[in-house]
Amino acid sequence: MARYTGPVCRICRRRGDKLYLKGERCYSPKCAFERRPNPPGPRPARRRKVSDRGLQLREKQRARASYGVLERQFVRYYKEAVRRPGVSGINLVTILESRLDNAVYRAGFADSRAQARQLVRHGLVSLNGRKTDIPSAQLRDGDVVGYTARGERSERHKVAREMIASKTPPPWLVVDGAAMTARVAGPLEVVPGETHRFNENVVIEYYSR
Ligand code: SF4
Repeated sequence: MARYTGPVCRICRRRGDKLYLKGERCYSPKCAFERRPNPPGPRPARRRKVSDRGLQLREKQRARASYGVLERQFVRYYKEAVRRPGVSGINLVTILESRLDNAVYRAGFADSRAQARQLVRHGLVSLNGRKTDIPSAQLRDGDVVGYTARGERSERHKVAREMIASKTPPPWLVVDGAAMTARVAGPLEVVPGETHRFNENVVIEYYSR
């Protein structure tokens, strides 16, 4: 299960937008994008006009980076989004949002998707009462995400319990702060700008060519 291991703040600076990949740090003055919003690397001698294809590529990369998904898996998600009935762009966001690591992050159990992914990989997260260490596991209506017995003893659980009241989960996730569980309740509602920070239709166009 591969993942990007390079410097993540570079991704925000390259994409020209804050992607909130580092949890608390993203909201502090230490955010690299706040301090240096210019792209990383040497300044180009002259500014070149970006083609339509280039803009589509940027949007796709932004989507991929936001959810920490590598290209091969992202292509699989695209194919599945097109295969499903309905609007392909909405389907793509739904698939991404239904990932287990995303739900852990959205529920407020982790500060970032990267941290959520680590919690899952380290066996601290349970799905319907059973340990699950697959961050990409797709959630369905009624699924319950929580901590394993080991997870409940972890430092992260203690921190998350203290912070949970200040977090706002999305409408499709019902979080029980006392039990530290999150239940998928109803279909996922895709709200651009709230659920995700990329144009899903442009991403679909990029792969459709
Ligand atoms: Fe992006 Fe967060 Fe790094 Fe800021 S701190 S550049 S938002 S990952």
